[in-house]
Amino acid sequence: MIWSARQSTTITVFAMLFGLGMISILGYQVSSSYQAEVAQARARTDNLSQILEAQMRSALREVDLVLRDLEDRITPEEVASESLGEAHNKTLQSLLLDKLTLVRQADNILLIGPDGVLSHRALDIGTAMQPFDRAYLDQVRDDPYRERLYARTAGKTQDGLLLARRYETPQGAFGGLVAASVPSAYFNQVLENLDLGRHGFVMLVDEGGSVITQRASGKGDEPFKAEADVLQQLKSGALSGGLTVIRHANGATRLVSYRQITGSPFFIIVGMSSLDYLATWRDNTLYYLTGGSLLLAMALMMIYFFWRSHRLARNLQQKESRLNVSESRFRQMIETIPVALVLARLPECFITYINQQAARTFDIPQAGALSLRAADFYLNSEDFREQLQAVGQAQGIRNIEVRMRRWSGESFWASLSMSSVAVGEEITLMIGISDITERKRLEGELKRRATTDGLSGLTNRAYFMEVANQELARASRYKRPLALLMLDIDHFKRINDSYGHDVGDMAIKAVAKVLGGALRDVDIVARMGGEEFTALLPETSPELAQAAAERVRTQIEAHRIVLGDGTVVQFTGSIGISALRPEDQLIDDLLKRADVALYHAKHHGRNQAVVYDAIPHPS
Ligand code: GH3
Ligand code: MG
Ligand code: MG
Repeated sequence: MIWSARQSTTITVFAMLFGLGMISILGYQVSSSYQAEVAQARARTDNLSQILEAQMRSALREVDLVLRDLEDRITPEEVASESLGEAHNKTLQSLLLDKLTLVRQADNILLIGPDGVLSHRALDIGTAMQPFDRAYLDQVRDDPYRERLYARTAGKTQDGLLLARRYETPQGAFGGLVAASVPSAYFNQVLENLDLGRHGFVMLVDEGGSVITQRASGKGDEPFKAEADVLQQLKSGALSGGLTVIRHANGATRLVSYRQITGSPFFIIVGMSSLDYLATWRDNTLYYLTGGSLLLAMALMMIYFFWRSHRLARNLQQKESRLNVSESRFRQMIETIPVALVLARLPECFITYINQQAARTFDIPQAGALSLRAADFYLNSEDFREQLQAVGQAQGIRNIEVRMRRWSGESFWASLSMSSVAVGEEITLMIGISDITERKRLEGELKRRATTDGLSGLTNRAYFMEVANQELARASRYKRPLALLMLDIDHFKRINDSYGHDVGDMAIKAVAKVLGGALRDVDIVARMGGEEFTALLPETSPELAQAAAERVRTQIEAHRIVLGDGTVVQFTGSIGISALRPEDQLIDDLLKRADVALYHAKHHGRNQAVVYDAIPHPS
């Protein structure tokens, strides 16, 4: 399919706009989905830290409540002294055990005396205690407003936290600590079930940044270290709630949410890696880009295709216009050449075109010729059929002279060339015609001049010799009789001398006329020169020839030339007759004998016809 230049341009522009549109939609889609993924991950990180904080806070609070309740039920002695008697000790321990069952997150409940020594505990096993940091203990003891104390525990099998409450005697003095130990296993359990992706992490750290428990990120990831300055900011209360920061590690981005567990020196840190939260986005982007590239490639292909089509259309247009120019030039040439050109379609030979010259030659309008067949231009349509056959056998025919017919019916001579051209399925006959009527006329005139005597209008000597020899050959071959007359005007010089050369010419013309009238059409009459004539009489015996000669002689004798002044001029002629003999080879033989007979006539009185064979002693 060929598209027009305008269509191609329009479609190319559309394809380009489509490509640009695709790129911008893709770009927008990719960037907006990135933003959305990041925002979502940020919110998730934040939420998770919030949830964890709430969970931890309530766990610690529960423990705290149980411990407070316990404080109300025990005495300063029970806290300070380890040896209260076996029965008392047991009762106390069962009280501690009762309380322990109320808080599932704790694995033991302890009483610690004001000197920092463990006095009682719910369970005798587990919880290997780190001795209290004296400094901490002193802080609680010396600061009546410090209600709680948190400490790290390091067990044989697991670490944990110790939550302790300041115990006061009824007098308001420092009486020791009521504490519960929470193993890291509890925290682990909480952190375990979080969905953080393969590279996410969560940790519980103390205010110094050291990890109480954590769920570390994937293998090969750089371990995260709590940042002291962030912890400090949160602790100082400069920031309410949590703080989410962005950090980079391992070529990925980490969203890290810090949050302090309210009422405690512990912090929850939740981190998520872009390797996880952007994984879907990456996959989708890959799909988008692949699809987009394909569409873009298609758009480019379309542009290319239409560009090519456009170029093709333009080339075609240029070629077409060049072709049109050359065709019109060619048509003009054909129209104006001085040769008549006729095109006809085979096999019916209907005329499909004639040029101006042909219209002039055949005297018919160009359009009018289209209803005719080529044969209609021939005088004899048989000629056309013959020529057509000749064209079929050979390449064409050239310069054939043929009689043709104008539309008016007038015939004329033409020189004709004919050939055939195959255009696709069709075969066209091309006929070139030149009107040669004038040439033919000139040719005839030339021939007539070459063979005719100008004064008398009779055959001249040269042509007579040629024709007479042919006639002689024919008569000899068929053994037919042939006679020859030779005539000479008597005393012609006298006519010239007496009346002038013109009258002499009149006498010559008169004799020519007599000869033409007295003899047959088949007889060949010629003027041989001066006032001397010959006539060749085919199929004529010497007797008949003599009779003919006698007719001529008497008519000449009877002829009168009347001049302007009334003068009558009369003259006579002498005739020699010869007949064909078997031994005669050339007309000269007959001429010689006739000449002898003429000579004889001249010398025996003139105005007579003498047969050579009748002369008594021919020489
Ligand atoms: P004869 O009876 O013996 O034939 O006598 P003649 O006078 O006819 O003698 P001849 O045949 O010798 O004379 C021929 C003359 O014809 C000579 C020439 O001047 C004249 N003549 C030749 N050709 C022409 C011509 O075309 N026109 C005229 N008017 N005279 C011619
Ligand atoms: Mg003579
Ligand atoms: Mg003479």
